[in-house]
Amino acid sequence: MPLNPDYTNEKPVLDHGYVRLLGVMGDDSSPDSDARISTGVAARSEAQQTTLVRFLLRHKHTTPFEGSVMKFEVRAPIMVIREWFRHRTFSYNEESGRYKQLDPLYYTPEADRVSYQAKSNHQGSGDPHPESERFVAEWGDEQKEFEASYTELIQTHNVARELARLNMPVSHYSTFVVTGNLLNWFRFLQLRMEATAQYEIRVYAEAIFEIAKQYFPSSLAAFQDYWLDAITLTRREVDLLKQMLPRAVSEESFNGAVPEPSPMFTKREAGEFREKLLRLGLLERT
Ligand SMILES: Cc1cc2nc3c(=O)[nH]c(=O)nc-3n(C[C@H](O)[C@H](O)[C@H](O)COP(=O)(O)OP(=O)(O)OC[C@H]3O[C@@H](n4cnc5c(N)ncnc54)[C@H](O)[C@@H]3O)c2cc1C
Repeated sequence: MPLNPDYTNEKPVLDHGYVRLLGVMGDDSSPDSDARISTGVAARSEAQQTTLVRFLLRHKHTTPFEGSVMKFEVRAPIMVIREWFRHRTFSYNEESGRYKQLDPLYYTPEADRVSYQAKSNHQGSGDPHPESERFVAEWGDEQKEFEASYTELIQTHNVARELARLNMPVSHYSTFVVTGNLLNWFRFLQLRMEATAQYEIRVYAEAIFEIAKQYFPSSLAAFQDYWLDAITLTRREVDLLKQMLPRAVSEESFNGAVPEPSPMFTKREAGEFREKLLRLGLLERT
């Protein structure tokens, strides 16, 4: 795997965090060539490659995306890392508070990030809190207080580092290395770029997405089109939609609206769209 020794591809996140690309295996041609082992027939053009990559993601044929890998070093607050590590199919290594005194870095949010508990979403933030400035200042004071006692236990009293950290807050930054294939990354981004994901992990996901697009532009565009920005309707929603939109369009207006075939919207995709409209009762059966 080619390492990125000058660490040029790095994005700052939150007040002291970052994502730093350490290595990439593969490029946009990799899912295509991995998939074509099935038939032994290579793509004849870049357009064919794009068409296949998009077809694979559209139909959730995901294994060809497991052959491309991105590895990052990440510095994030422990509360973010706790959420991140729930994504069990990544490989991780984290710095150890048993081996070393952790750097004195703590996350303190901007005051406008501090809100009341949301009323509808039990996990989320609601309206801005009028006393946010005071809370941010108090969190900063508590972090300084903990840091002083942590340092004193280790440096003055020689207390073992593994216990000196006992009261460490989840705002404390830690650093880890995470390696995942493109499918791992798609799953992570799908869940953590959503509006319902906590802001503090969402900004990390967005930074990863921006870097990933530089190395796998076609695959990430397909991911965005077919997964990230796509909407799934439940059966009940389909029934309701049919009731709300009873007027089906004609075959002529469908044919008039569908663009000329291209890798970004193939003839096959137009056919799939037609089937969906028929299922929704939005296209007149001929
Ligand atoms: C908004 C939000 C809120 C959340 N709230 C909570 C919470 O309150 N408490 C909490 O504990 N977690 C919470 N989570 C974490 C969530 O439940 C998942 O653990 C996390 O998002 C990782 O998803 P994953 O399991 O799909 O990912 P991965 O662990 O990377 O797994 C990827 C895929 O591999 C397969 N897989 C992995 N392991 C297994 C297995 N053991 N058995 C079968 N299939 C497997 C599944 O198909 C899975 O989708 C939250 C996540 C989000 C996005």
